[in-house]
Amino acid sequence: MSAVEGTNYYFRKAARIMDVGTPIETLLATPLREVKVQVSIEMDSGEIRTFLGYRIQHDNSRGPMKGGLRYHPMLDQDECASLASLMTWKTAVVNVPYGGAKGGIACDPSQLSIKELERLTRKYVDQVQDVIGPTRDIPAPDVNTNPQVMAWIMDQYSRYHGHSPAVVTGKPLELYGSKGREAATGRGLLYVAREILRDLGLPVKGTRFALQGFGNVGGHTAQLLWEDGGVVVAVADALGGVRNPQGLDIPSLFEHVKRTGTVTGFSGGASCSNDDVLGADCEVLIPAALGHVLTRENAHAVRAKLIIEGANGPTQPEADEIFEKRGIFVVPDVLASAGGVTVSYFEWVQNLQHLSWEEDRVNAELEKSMKEAYERVAQVARSRKVSMRTAAYILAIGRVGKATVLRGI
Ligand code: GLU
Repeated sequence: MSAVEGTNYYFRKAARIMDVGTPIETLLATPLREVKVQVSIEMDSGEIRTFLGYRIQHDNSRGPMKGGLRYHPMLDQDECASLASLMTWKTAVVNVPYGGAKGGIACDPSQLSIKELERLTRKYVDQVQDVIGPTRDIPAPDVNTNPQVMAWIMDQYSRYHGHSPAVVTGKPLELYGSKGREAATGRGLLYVAREILRDLGLPVKGTRFALQGFGNVGGHTAQLLWEDGGVVVAVADALGGVRNPQGLDIPSLFEHVKRTGTVTGFSGGASCSNDDVLGADCEVLIPAALGHVLTRENAHAVRAKLIIEGANGPTQPEADEIFEKRGIFVVPDVLASAGGVTVSYFEWVQNLQHLSWEEDRVNAELEKSMKEAYERVAQVARSRKVSMRTAAYILAIGRVGKATVLRGI
């Protein structure tokens, strides 16, 4: 199954329960625009290299399109299209006035110098500047992109269109970024975790968590859960994992990662594999790295009672069915990982109004949005007797579908 077929599988399952009808179902499953560009740059060696860049714009019925830029060797059009539609549903679940988009460059940034990365980013902007913009499509960080990359995007776009801080979010604080944006996805996940754990009668304190991924999402999530008294029993990154049934000391793990660049080799636990982390003995599993990691093959090995998706698209449809049959609750990506885009929206609002919010305000507004979204999704799940994923899609499709019809086709 292709990546886009995976996302559309969830979409269609909900659309059929809602009985939206084939014409609207087809419209909502079809991206508005798919842009694929040549990104050629001169490497430091003088050699010319050509990369492929993408920006897939899925839907704009609820506002400008929104979504991250990913730099990854395996990125392709199919993956971007899947992630773009996920952004449409995600922005609708948390009710921020945006559509969905996603893009990036197929490249391995670990093999590029900082100057090459800058040239690549600026060239990409040259190629897509006419389809993005503060009222059209607003990129943001995603896998392997960061505030510095966003600063280059803002600068390059502004060369064409005049000073435009609101063209991109996730910028550095010194350059119109928002306080609280870096930790926002992890913080949003924490707020959702608190809600569902309360509904399941488990306090965060003392609950055991396993996390796959220790980057922007996984790292902040681990830190915040640890601060709340959660016991993080296993963590993995791309190179491998580390576990400790008594709980890992997260601040020491951060120091280790700062020194070595990876969680592997941490002396506060025993080394283990990524699969060990996915099958760890714990109450909550949080996939917070790449997509497609929970599959038909490994779904039976999961021992958690609850999966909270910090990554985009970590669960393949076959695995999702297995979890449903096994009674494992899944809090879907479109809800659990929506804290990032929610604070991106706050950043964009601050940029448009030329003002800056205090961090307490950002976090309080984020908490309000995440709780409200969780409550709405839980309500649909209860009343329709469906999984939280199907409920989230039902809520999102309802909002996007209504906007589409009201605007007129
Ligand atoms: N890349 C993040 C996501 O997948 C953030 C997107 C944004 O802030 O626009 O949700």
